[in-house]
Amino acid sequence: FFGSAITNAKTYALAEAQRREIERLNLILQDRVNELADQVATDKLTGLFNFRTFESEIERRIHECQRNREDRELSIAMFDIDHFKRFNDTHGHAAGNVVLAGVAKIIAEQARKMDLACRYGGEEFVVILPQCDAGGALNFAQRVRCAIEQARFCSSDGGELKVTISAGVATLTDEECQERLFERADQALYQAKRGGRNRVCTASA
Ligand code: GH3
Ligand code: MG
Ligand code: MG
Repeated sequence: FFGSAITNAKTYALAEAQRREIERLNLILQDRVNELADQVATDKLTGLFNFRTFESEIERRIHECQRNREDRELSIAMFDIDHFKRFNDTHGHAAGNVVLAGVAKIIAEQARKMDLACRYGGEEFVVILPQCDAGGALNFAQRVRCAIEQARFCSSDGGELKVTISAGVATLTDEECQERLFERADQALYQAKRGGRNRVCTASA
């Protein structure tokens, strides 16, 4: 009797130790899964969401906005750094990367919690602004533009770097698809570039 009681206790202790080990490994695995999911969704240099995330999120949020009619409007703001090729040629690619990270930080700081700030190309950014009408979107883009105009970024040799940014904003119209909304914001951005850069233009419906 004592013999089997001792064996049972030992078996139980072993099973308990194995259960704890599996739990520990599961937590490590879950952390790793979360880490990889973050890496897939975000841009490494700026920490903003990437284009892939933008595409899936804009589709979901447009659908939400169109289904829920009493929901307030949805806008997007598109940004592109001015003459960035020239900036890179003058100051070097590393300084360009410092500026990209700094610009992204400013965009993220100006955004609300519910907004989704993404880097969708080299020096191009787009922010999804849920529950935000045309006036709010224009305001947001102007705040970002002003903050970037005033910002001074530090180069590795201690020098001060500065850039300006142009923006195009568009507000979702009834039944509009994501491609058309994106296209209208892009056209407004093009207008801002043509108008002399360092400015914000609003897309017509
Ligand atoms: P515009 O005012 O019309 O936008 O002119 P631009 O020179 O900014 O436009 P263009 O599209 O010709 O150049 C974009 C530049 O952005 C070219 C490329 O060298 C730079 N760029 C893109 N991705 C990166 C990056 O990850 N790091 C750095 N440093 N530069 C980048
Ligand atoms: Mg560009
Ligand atoms: Mg540019």
